Amino acid sequence: MIYFVITLIMTITQIMIEYYDTKNNVQKDLVSLENTYINSLQNAIWDMDVDQIESLSDSISKLSFVKEVILLDPSGNIITHHQAHNITNRFSHEFNIYKVHNMQKIVIAKAIISSDQNSVIDIVKTGVILIILNAMIKSVILLFLFIWAFQKNLVEPLTDLTNQIGDIEFENLDQHKISVNVPKSSELDLLQKKFNLMIEKLNQQKNVILNAEHDYAAQLEQEVKERTLELEQLNIGLNHIATTDYLTNIRNRRSFFDVGDQYFVMAKRNQKELCVLSFDLDNFKAINDTYGHQVGDQALKQFADNCKKHLRESDIFGRMGGEEFTALLFETSLKESIHLAERIVKSTSEIVIHLDNEAINFTVSVGVASMLPSDQKMDDLLLRADRALYQAKANGRNQVISSEY
Ligand code: GH3
Ligand code: MG
Ligand code: MG
Repeated sequence: MIYFVITLIMTITQIMIEYYDTKNNVQKDLVSLENTYINSLQNAIWDMDVDQIESLSDSISKLSFVKEVILLDPSGNIITHHQAHNITNRFSHEFNIYKVHNMQKIVIAKAIISSDQNSVIDIVKTGVILIILNAMIKSVILLFLFIWAFQKNLVEPLTDLTNQIGDIEFENLDQHKISVNVPKSSELDLLQKKFNLMIEKLNQQKNVILNAEHDYAAQLEQEVKERTLELEQLNIGLNHIATTDYLTNIRNRRSFFDVGDQYFVMAKRNQKELCVLSFDLDNFKAINDTYGHQVGDQALKQFADNCKKHLRESDIFGRMGGEEFTALLFETSLKESIHLAERIVKSTSEIVIHLDNEAINFTVSVGVASMLPSDQKMDDLLLRADRALYQAKANGRNQVISSEY
């Protein structure tokens, strides 16, 4: 806009200069007419040759830049007057016409030759058109050049930059680098470098956050693993406590029945043999009373350890309470069970507990029972084994009695 205003002012100035230059030239031309025609006019007026005067002033008035020719006598009366139709803003050249007579200069007439603005405009018209055309062509070319340069150097790179910035996402920060085709060290290049620096910093911060998150997740996972392991171990420990007799480290009563009941059901369903050995240490109260509870505990432990040596891994063995123990033998005949019980009775009597001054022994009585088709539950079987055990006690202890014989 500023450019156009300046161009307009300069064009107007140029036109004005052109106009005034031309006007000066016309003025000079008017002056030069004095030299050209003064002698002819002198003679014609001096001779009072009216035709000649008319002819001369007519020829002057026909000149393109002359609009009016007036000849006045010394008294100011019009001798002749030639005038074009439309005169605007006239400017004139006046000169006196002399005749030298007797060495004296006598004014015989006064000539006023005028031109006007239209004459000047007619002359400068072509020049003005050229000036305006020149200014317009220059302006249009400059406008197009400006639009082209603006588009190429600013709009296109800015659009590209904006699109590339729009493509930036948290996920692709590491692969993203803004690359716009701009001249080196230009403002846009600076902007692009700043953006790339910012992306780089963002990426670094993203990596720090992701690493921290990753570390935190790994730490959390490790903690969960450790905690789970602890809980599993605790659970195993609790399960062990809940199912194991603290003194002998074999099954407690509840655990024995939990597993034993399943064995019973399984054996019954599959018609497998199932036998029970019911143990009761003989005169155990006397051991406690004579040697103390600790010795009694030792006897209980050694008895359990000894039994485990004779039993199979698959047999169920538990402490029912006090000095009473029970073993459940799966897929074992009554005969085999009796033999096993006898081996245990014998080996128990061979256990020696060494005290300070003496060594003591103890014995065990065993009742054996095998599952009958009429048995509906474990208790039916245990009851017969217990009866056999009482029988063994009654028979003098340290022996095996089977309920079936
Ligand atoms: P019997 O031959 O008729 O079975 O006689 P017994 O003395 O073994 O029978 P009794 O039922 O009279 O005595 C059992 C004793 O076992 C009584 C109790 O003090 C003892 N006892 C029970 N539990 C424990 C224990 O955990 N440790 C010790 N040391 N003794 C126990
Ligand atoms: Mg008892
Ligand atoms: Mg007893």
